[in-house]
Order: sequence, then C-alpha cells, then structure tokens
Amino acid sequence: MGDLQPRAGVHYPRSSGEFQSWFAADDDCLDFLDWLRWPGGFVCPKCGHGGGWAVADGRYKCAACGKRTSVTAGTLFDRRRTPLTGWFTAGWMFAAQKDGVSALSLQRSLEIGSYPTAWAMLHRLRSVLVRPGRDRLSGTVEVDETFIGGEEPGLRGGRAKGKKSLVGVAVEVRQPRGYGRCRMEILPDASAGSLRPFLTRHVEPGATVITDGWMGYHGIAGLGYAHVRRSQRAARARGEDPGKLLPGVHRVASLAKRWLLGTHQGSVDDAHLQSYLNEFCFRFNRRRSRSRGLVFYRVLELAIGHDPVRYRDLVAAPKPKAKTPAAPSQRGRPPSIERPRAARPWRTAHLA
Ligand SMILES: [Zn+2]
Repeated sequence: MGDLQPRAGVHYPRSSGEFQSWFAADDDCLDFLDWLRWPGGFVCPKCGHGGGWAVADGRYKCAACGKRTSVTAGTLFDRRRTPLTGWFTAGWMFAAQKDGVSALSLQRSLEIGSYPTAWAMLHRLRSVLVRPGRDRLSGTVEVDETFIGGEEPGLRGGRAKGKKSLVGVAVEVRQPRGYGRCRMEILPDASAGSLRPFLTRHVEPGATVITDGWMGYHGIAGLGYAHVRRSQRAARARGEDPGKLLPGVHRVASLAKRWLLGTHQGSVDDAHLQSYLNEFCFRFNRRRSRSRGLVFYRVLELAIGHDPVRYRDLVAAPKPKAKTPAAPSQRGRPPSIERPRAARPWRTAHLA
C-alpha cells in the first residue's frame, strides 16, 4: 500500500460529482475498501497467507487456514451498523471541506437520525489520524504552551465557565519564511517533567528548538537539541511585544482556537479536546494539499489499517449531549437496482 502513488480520478475522486458516482451503493464502497486493504489480492490476517476465495456470505475464506474474514473485519469499520455509504459521506465531508465538519452538519447530511451516531462516526475518524511511528518534527522548531478550551456548550456569547487546558504546541519554522508541520498535546502542567517528554515525543533530536525563557525548558540541550531561548524580559526591555517572541506557535494556537470556535462552535469538552487537536494538526499539516480527494483517500487508508474503536472508548468521559434532531431529509439514494453500476476505476488501473 505504501508504494502506491494514488492518482486523481483513478484512486480517489477529483470532485463531489465523481465521489457520488463512484460510491452510490454499499457494494461500491466495499469494493473500494477491499482494494485499499488488499491491493494485490486477499491476504489472510490470521496466518498471513496470500490467497483465498470469496464465499457466499461475502467474506473471504483463506486457502491455507480456512478462516473467514470480511473486508471490514479488524478495521475501523468492523461491525458498524451505519451503511458504508454513510461512512464514505462522513469521510468525504471530513476531508473535502477545508475546516472539516461538525457532528450536527453530518447528522443533517446523512439519513441517520441521531446526533450521537454522527458524533461517534466523526470521533472514530479522528481516532485514526495519529499514525503510530510517524516522523517527529525536525529542522527549526518553535515550542511553547498555551491555554485552550473552557468554552461551555450552550454558553455561546456568554462567559466561558469551563476549565481551560494547558496545551503544548510545536511547529516547524521554514526559511526564509512560513511554517511546516505542527503538533499539539494536552499537558498536565508546565513543569520540566511534562515539557521534556512532550519534546522528545514530537521533536527529532538534532533539531534547533526555540522557546521562551521559562525554566521548564532549562537543560533541554542535554536531550540532544540545539536550544535557542528568547527572553520575554529582554523583549520587553527592547520595547517589543513579548507575545510575538514565538510567532509560529502564536499563529498555530490562534488558528486552532478559531477553528474550535468556528467549525465546532466551541462545543468541545475537555475529555475530547485532544482528538480535536489531532484533527486540527492533521488539517494544518495538509493545508497545502491541492487535492481534497487525496486527503479523503488518506483518511480511508488510515481507517482500513486501524483497529476497531469501541464506543465506550470514545465516551470514556461524558456522553455527547443529545440535540434536537433535524427534520428528516428527503434526500435518499436510489436503490441500487435502478442505477447503473459504478465504474470502479481503481480496479481497472490496478489490472493495467
Ligand atoms: Zn489464513
């Protein structure tokens, strides 16, 4: 899978029209996931044998060990009741819209009546975004902490009453200007004991790390970083704005806060803030991607390679508040019998 260079119009849709014509029925979605999971043909997840045959219940039977496996078994889509067309629509809205989609908008776009269902779908998609073993930031990296959150749902326009979370922010600084990738993580506090693990998890040794003068960053040269400290006090003495010492971190943090208030209208509780921060960083790090279809492809690729996520893991803390359901939509998909079979260009390209 890693060797494939996905092509527009073949491996991912170029437009919403193409998306709709490719994935109008569950069968088409299933075939796409089948191809994405096993581009070279079925491989048994139990014994690793390559080869088997399709059996009547739609699963594959391994030619070596005889185990039956469905395309979605052991992936994010395992045992999900929502039709795959619903999942694909969620993935498309999630990826194709620059700022993503709120649970309420997704609920309105799907024929699913429940806000918690839409909420859980989006949280499942969010949970695949952090790939284990992904590269750490490198080059020149600004690091700082900021407070985020504390907006109580339902108190829009009123005073924020919730608790704010301390968030570590790291962003690559490019020369002569501009920024590379970012990472954000909730921190228990701003002590060296919290900041050092944050650095080592997200920044490659050998990088130049720029921080303010906070003592929590003292001694990070000992972790293998070239440490550049910018002192607030010195900036103030020079008549400069100490808030602009770390413009990259400042930029990322303000974009993240604006995104939380915009797309999600601030209704993000503390327990789920980290997954929203992951989504924000995923978007920020792909902001120059010219093709939203490719982002959609990457989300599905991560999802088909991800373990199932249980509902009780998503709701480790408070359940989403039920919202008044929107009026049922009249938009429906035609039954597959009335519609011509989709082209499935990913198959033809693979055989070529
Ligand atoms: Zn097997």
